[in-house]
Amino acid sequence: MRKEKEIEVISFDMDGTLIPKDFADDFWLKKIPHLYSQKTSLPKKEARERFIEEYDEMGRDDIRWYEPEYWFSKYELEQEPREVLEKLRTKYELYDDAKEVIKKLHEKYSLIIISNGIKMFIEVGLGGFQTYFTALYSSVSDFRMSKKTPCLYREICKKLDVEPEKVIHVGDDRENDHVPAKKAGMRSYLVSRNEKNNNELNDLRELLEIL
Ligand SMILES: [Mg+2]
Repeated sequence: MRKEKEIEVISFDMDGTLIPKDFADDFWLKKIPHLYSQKTSLPKKEARERFIEEYDEMGRDDIRWYEPEYWFSKYELEQEPREVLEKLRTKYELYDDAKEVIKKLHEKYSLIIISNGIKMFIEVGLGGFQTYFTALYSSVSDFRMSKKTPCLYREICKKLDVEPEKVIHVGDDRENDHVPAKKAGMRSYLVSRNEKNNNELNDLRELLEIL
């Protein structure tokens, strides 16, 4: 059997992996429509429907879809996106298993984030936990790519000067995390907190047993 290379770097996705997806969803689907409704005096429901219609129409292949600055400027919202996000962050916590695992793994490995949320979401999402990470990569902010492709994962390995075989990537999305990271040559684990499936992590603490 081929001997596996010793792991040096552990990469995590952000939404749904370290922090509940509700954090970002709340920002996009509640907070922006709410500010839009305040700005225009449109009833909340109507403001929300109008925003979601435009948001969906643009679609996730357009880089602007991911950028709060674009939407704040489009709707002439006076607030600072980062301040709005930071305020919202007080309602959310990283998952308990994520906090525990980050603290343990950072003693032995370089920890990084590879997310397709913009950099601000990673920074605000991690809060004080940022100190445990050696690098934060956003496909949108750093590479102007809306999807996480094998090429992106390889590019990040190059930047870190590490062989993909020495990197583990953990994420909750098959198409953006598991498949492309594996294709790039990394060891890849899919985390699915809700279902019990073989070969998937239901809790990040299972990583501690694997390593
Ligand atoms: Mg995710």
